Amino acid sequence: MKFISTRGNSPAVSASVAIRTGLAPDGGLYVPKSFPKIEISESLNIYADFATSIIQPFFQGDSLYDDIPEICRKAFSFDVPLHWLNENQAVLELFHGPTAAFKDFGARFLANVMEKLQQGKERDLTILVATSGDTGSAVASAFYQKKGIKVKVLYPEGRVSKRQEKQLTCWDDNITSYCVTGNFDDCQKMVKTAFQDKELARDWDLSSANSINLGRLLPQIVYFYYSSLLFFKRTGNKPVVIVPSGNVGNSVGAYWAMELGAPIEKIVLAVNANTTIPEFIETGEYTPRASIATIANAMDVGDPSNMERLRYLFPDHKQILKNMEAFSVSDDHIREIIRNTYSKYSYVMCPHTAAGEWVRQNNYSDGRSVVVSTAHPAKFETIVEPEIGRAVEIPEFLRGMLETEPKFKRIQSNINQLF
Ligand SMILES: *Cc1c(COP(=O)(O)O)cnc(C)c1O
Repeated sequence: MKFISTRGNSPAVSASVAIRTGLAPDGGLYVPKSFPKIEISESLNIYADFATSIIQPFFQGDSLYDDIPEICRKAFSFDVPLHWLNENQAVLELFHGPTAAFKDFGARFLANVMEKLQQGKERDLTILVATSGDTGSAVASAFYQKKGIKVKVLYPEGRVSKRQEKQLTCWDDNITSYCVTGNFDDCQKMVKTAFQDKELARDWDLSSANSINLGRLLPQIVYFYYSSLLFFKRTGNKPVVIVPSGNVGNSVGAYWAMELGAPIEKIVLAVNANTTIPEFIETGEYTPRASIATIANAMDVGDPSNMERLRYLFPDHKQILKNMEAFSVSDDHIREIIRNTYSKYSYVMCPHTAAGEWVRQNNYSDGRSVVVSTAHPAKFETIVEPEIGRAVEIPEFLRGMLETEPKFKRIQSNINQLF
């Protein structure tokens, strides 16, 4: 099983090489050369076993093949439930991991793979991650106390929510958090500069953990396959799957699940006021823009980093139109949906999930569908609580993080302060 670059000018490599490298040498993103035949386990009771049956075939011929069952057991040790709003409409809750967002799946799989790959290596691996919120905490949590690996998390001062900041600064040991004077772009620029620095490359083994890494995408196939099977078993029908999207990594996972044979009727992307993706699908023209700030801030992306994988999947514009739809949802509509789903179903949604729910209620209200819930509403309480008129309960696992004394280093946006 081999992976090739979307730009076609790099040698084909096996899964763990693609994961260790991150970006292909020609600057492209790794995609499967072909899709393996999978045999899914009959029982859907143990998620980690189901994950193994999907992920292991991608490691055929790779040095980590035999380690995948153990890696999956360590990475996926939490619930992945479908919450049914009514007979035909469900919400896939991907927020039961340690940092309460779907990024826990990708980050935890990646961390366990990297730890295995580091075994026997003399030099520590240093992971750099710039974050506007959810990514940094998922990566910090996933890599915490992993042997042979250090993590440096960079976040922009004053630009992440109070609770997000708590989740970024509750670590010690091999994780260091840096509060950078500047915005998210400054943080990202520092990471890029560090990777291009020849002196640093000599003295440090550097890697990244952002969503273009194949190791974060493979585990995102699993829950789409799993939930559509659960849906199919219960209703006898394939669901339309609605994915709140930003860098479109999650939606690429959904498409790969469909390629593998998951019973999915159609994949629909819900975005906020950042309309790069719906415009691309409508016109076939890709026009990246600066991002616009919204209340669904984890989707504030004007130039989605996984777009290259999407365009690789659909080289012809007509094919996209057949397979994909995307809708933009305003902040007002997001707020309205948070209120309505609470009063109608007593169910509380985060702003990102609410964007997906708006798309369902306005475009797919008659059919059978799954809306993907990408984060727990307690992470976005300042937006959710005024709409529902009460406090959102904080899950036990999140509470511990919020109560820890914050530890971070305040730095200027200059890489000399990082090393
Ligand atoms: C990251 C994130 C998204 C966007 O996911 P992509 O894979 O970047 O499209 C949506 N919602 C939440 C809560 C997120 O953290």
